[in-house]
Amino acid sequence: MTSRYVDVVVPLPLRGLFTYSVGEGPTPPVGARVAVPFRGRSTVGVVFAHRDEPPIDASRIRPLRAVLDATPIVPEELLSFLDAAARYYAAPLGEVVRGAMPAVETRTARALRAQDGVGGALLRVRSVVVRERVFVARAPAATLPSGKGPLQKTLWGALPDDGSKVLRDDVAPDDRARAALARLVDAGLVLRHVEDVRDDLVSGEVERDQAKVLSAEQARAVEAIERALRGRTADRFLLHGVTGSGKTEVYLAALAVALAEGGSGLLLVPEIALTPQLVGRVRARFGDAIAVLHSGVEGRVRAQAYEALRTGAVRIAVGARSALFAPMPGLAVVIVDEEHDPSFKQEEGFRYHARDMALLRAAKASAVCILGSATPSFEAYELAERGRLHKLVLRTRPTGASMPTVELVDLRRHRSTPSGHPLLTEPLTTALTRCLAAGEQAMIFLNRRGYAPTLRCLACDEVVECPACDLPLTEHRRERCLRCHTCDHQRPLSESCPSCGAVSLVRVGAGTEAVEEALARLHPSARIARLDRDSARTDGAYAALEAMRARRADVLVGTQMITKGHDLPGVSLVGVLLADQALAFPDFRAAERTFQLVSQVAGRAGRADTKGRVIVQSYAPDVPAIALAAQHDYEGFFEAERAVRRLHGNPPFGHLVAVRVDAGDPAVARACAEGLAGYALARPELESFEVQLLGPAPAPIERARGRSRYRFLLRAPERAPLRRVVAALVERIERGVEPARASVDVDPVSML
Ligand code: ADP
Ligand code: ZN
Repeated sequence: MTSRYVDVVVPLPLRGLFTYSVGEGPTPPVGARVAVPFRGRSTVGVVFAHRDEPPIDASRIRPLRAVLDATPIVPEELLSFLDAAARYYAAPLGEVVRGAMPAVETRTARALRAQDGVGGALLRVRSVVVRERVFVARAPAATLPSGKGPLQKTLWGALPDDGSKVLRDDVAPDDRARAALARLVDAGLVLRHVEDVRDDLVSGEVERDQAKVLSAEQARAVEAIERALRGRTADRFLLHGVTGSGKTEVYLAALAVALAEGGSGLLLVPEIALTPQLVGRVRARFGDAIAVLHSGVEGRVRAQAYEALRTGAVRIAVGARSALFAPMPGLAVVIVDEEHDPSFKQEEGFRYHARDMALLRAAKASAVCILGSATPSFEAYELAERGRLHKLVLRTRPTGASMPTVELVDLRRHRSTPSGHPLLTEPLTTALTRCLAAGEQAMIFLNRRGYAPTLRCLACDEVVECPACDLPLTEHRRERCLRCHTCDHQRPLSESCPSCGAVSLVRVGAGTEAVEEALARLHPSARIARLDRDSARTDGAYAALEAMRARRADVLVGTQMITKGHDLPGVSLVGVLLADQALAFPDFRAAERTFQLVSQVAGRAGRADTKGRVIVQSYAPDVPAIALAAQHDYEGFFEAERAVRRLHGNPPFGHLVAVRVDAGDPAVARACAEGLAGYALARPELESFEVQLLGPAPAPIERARGRSRYRFLLRAPERAPLRRVVAALVERIERGVEPARASVDVDPVSML
């Protein structure tokens, strides 16, 4: 089949396809990479379609520069998925393709040929278990010329002057610092080394294991999945299994069947750095022939992983949401573990939800899809209620362990505490003392990192705020600084108020760092580990979890990072310090999120022989999200909360789109939001009330990173009219006439 023209998608945030002529050579297949002239330079695109007739005057169509693949690098099934995903989110196909392809695959043709031998031998990979790390060092005998900016000066000061190299991410933790560092590299003042290092997640040998003898419930679930896999019916399942019910064993069985049938399988997890154990269990079952894909796997290594998957050398991929775009020939099963987890939503660039896209990808590949959770998202559970997902239920723990007893502690009745710390109440400290005395471990959950979330001046009553955001700065005691949790702005800790200068700042509230300190005072001999974004940045998430597993720590204090599926058999006590914290969020999912967090963290207690005990402290212990989580009553909570959702027409009983606008000048942001909302209002779908407009209004965080933020929501019971309105808005935004930055978020998760 020789077509004379090809339509190419270019990995840039552009909607259209671009037609090129093939010339003398063979026609590249759909899904192959081609080098094309584009806007005055050469770029790598992917052939999306063949065509025989030119769409415009043939003399204006330019020829391809080169064909880079004789066989498709993006399988047709994946291409059609990317196209459907772009349509679903009203996103430019080019942007979706860019996000889906490793950077190395889209570099210019010459660079590709030179570095990777594309067109020559295939890259050989035995197992895909390394990741790249970037190190930087001062160039020998270099001195920093005067006139460099403050950021470059700081970076230069942070580099050792003895020529030794340090991890780039340690000296340059954010994008701005990285850009400044790159300028130093360009100037030849700093040298950059890239090294392959064994990945923490997959280093070390694992002992191979065998499939377990399944419990009756597990066996029933596996049977249903196996039937679908062998019959190649693209069934979709919701695996609703209480914490510790052995969902992982069901996933492993499903992957084994997929492999036995000659297919491949994809396992998505919310945050792979937090699930080293799950990766370990997949390796124990399937050996090193798995690809582990996460954000640390980039560039060339990711390209190698993709190549191994594409050629079928590796047929199992485990990864965070972006693994959804891995090329997987013969894809037979897509599994989403902890499908309720909000980190499946990508919040920047191409905004997509990996759970929803997993269903779509599986459908495009005629693969089986399994969504698993102890606390299913309302979206998934409602699909199951309507019969659009087959529900598989695991009610018991195969280890014989019973569900932990949950005691509610009303914080209103425990204003004075023996510990002196308002969040360490008498019932909790007594239980902790008993737990430690018995040689068992405990987990203490508080969803707030840092030492004190707010500093208030008693003299002028001002709260110390971030200069760029409308948010208080959090005190970080160990680093002796105040930091903004939105933009990472940082300033040294001072005792005096930045507004009035009085030395009368008081701390309001507590974070994990303060809890760690208070616990250490209370139990001087206990070994306390902490897991939150701060500790993960310095020590890696792995360190704290490993310390608990190896019994080098007795207590783990942490944020929501400790709630994620960890199976730590020594933990018999879980304390939730402030369960209602998430309830106050201006978000219609606040109750659902609270229920999930309390249930998930409670599920970490008593997973082995010792009966688990959970203490949940709250100022509102009677609200359904907390009271029903304490009773392990998901159905009861779903029934109660779904009535509220239905009343307001919120998901899963309606569909939402958020339109967000930001600008340096608040008046500009507001005018732009009003202009876009007015444009939407004039649409027939809004006049007929098929689509409802909410707002515009300032966003809950009104100013962030120095920009004022406005937003409005569109809500509709049916998708089709909503989609038409969104298409019109996107078209207007992309015309580029708006004075502010505007974006559209289909099925938003974050309401901030
Ligand atoms: P979940 O993911 O549902 O929270 P896990 O898959 O982590 O639960 O399983 C909990 C514990 O039960 C693990 O230690 C696991 O090894 C064990 N387990 C799972 N299935 C079985 C089984 N069939 N027989 C014995 N132990 C099992
Ligand atoms: Zn800030």
